[in-house]
Amino acid sequence: MSPHGTITYHGSNRTGTKTRTVQARTRISGCVSVCELAVPPGLFYYNRKVIDSRYTDCYRFENAMAGTPAVVMRLVASAFAVAERAGGIARKVMRSGDLGIVEKTGANDLQTLADRLVQKSICASLSQHFPKVTIIGEEDLPAEAVEEELIENGQSEEILQKPCPSEYINIKEEELVVWVDPLDGTKEYTEGLLDHVTVLIGIAYNGKAIAGVINQPFFNYQLGPGTTLGRTLWGMLGLGAFGFELKEVEGGKCIITTTRSHSNKLVADCVQAMEPHDVIKVGGAGNKIIQLVEGKASAYVFASPGCKKWDTCAPEAILHAVGGKLTDMHGRAYKYHADVKHMNSAGVLATLRNHQYYISRVPQSVLDALPSD
Ligand code: AMP
Ligand code: MG
Ligand code: MG
Repeated sequence: MSPHGTITYHGSNRTGTKTRTVQARTRISGCVSVCELAVPPGLFYYNRKVIDSRYTDCYRFENAMAGTPAVVMRLVASAFAVAERAGGIARKVMRSGDLGIVEKTGANDLQTLADRLVQKSICASLSQHFPKVTIIGEEDLPAEAVEEELIENGQSEEILQKPCPSEYINIKEEELVVWVDPLDGTKEYTEGLLDHVTVLIGIAYNGKAIAGVINQPFFNYQLGPGTTLGRTLWGMLGLGAFGFELKEVEGGKCIITTTRSHSNKLVADCVQAMEPHDVIKVGGAGNKIIQLVEGKASAYVFASPGCKKWDTCAPEAILHAVGGKLTDMHGRAYKYHADVKHMNSAGVLATLRNHQYYISRVPQSVLDALPSD
């Protein structure tokens, strides 16, 4: 990187205080930007980067500017804060006792007030800051004004501090697609199986799930009153995944996690063909991926249509960020372009390790019954 342009600093010490106001005026590559911040003596801040004021040459400053968070990092950092607010909304609706349940396609396909409010919150908050990003949410909602209290403007500082993987640095806002499942495991939410519930925000680029945020609003609810509820997990390809402790199933056991409320003969046949040591039946795609990365299950098997792109985008990104794999039952990757079909018609098979082994156990009769598109 060659230095060009000019930089001038204007700093004023306020005696008796530990801070001073600094105006850093930069003209690099024809672009002029100004920041005014209160900073400790001896340091300049530029877009959250601390720059020692002795480094007044262009080269250093330009390098520091290169550390300005990339669009995708800002989007993930916002998605993290937005998901935390979403978790709060899901808890508040549950506390109110009035879930506002509506059947969509039937008794096993529900929408609650929490699904509606959370989707409004996520979509309005993200589109306010990233107007060119395509956001696709699960729920069909009327276009209406969004209450101020649903808007989240924060960003995770921890995520902003992370280096953006080089292949994503130049992504433009309009190249990103966000898949939103405001509440995954709604059926379980209405039945009080609260730890099955998650909020999913997946970020795709070039049809690939590259980053994801999962909030689990009722994490730790079994510990009783006085416990702080909820946690947020996130991950990005090339960076890893955070907010949990990565673990594998002990002893290499085959423990299958699968649906509890959307089973059918295909799903049951496929699970049995894996000859598992144990089968766990829980709600939610997000919840089942958490079981994989925390060593509670070795494979998520759902040999049926039913899951949609908003169910798998965020979980897939987190799983892939730690070396796992999510595919259809044939072993093919799903695509997350803005115009793809929403249904994951050929089922979901996800593993942390040994994906090919589980693919090889899928019976031909199951493969024949699932679409090959
Ligand atoms: P489950 O493992 O049953 O909780 O399903 C994971 C996700 O896929 C949830 O968001 C479900 O709502 C969705 N899903 C799976 N099967 C169906 C189905 N037959 N009808 C509607 N949604 C489904
Ligand atoms: Mg869902
Ligand atoms: Mg949902």
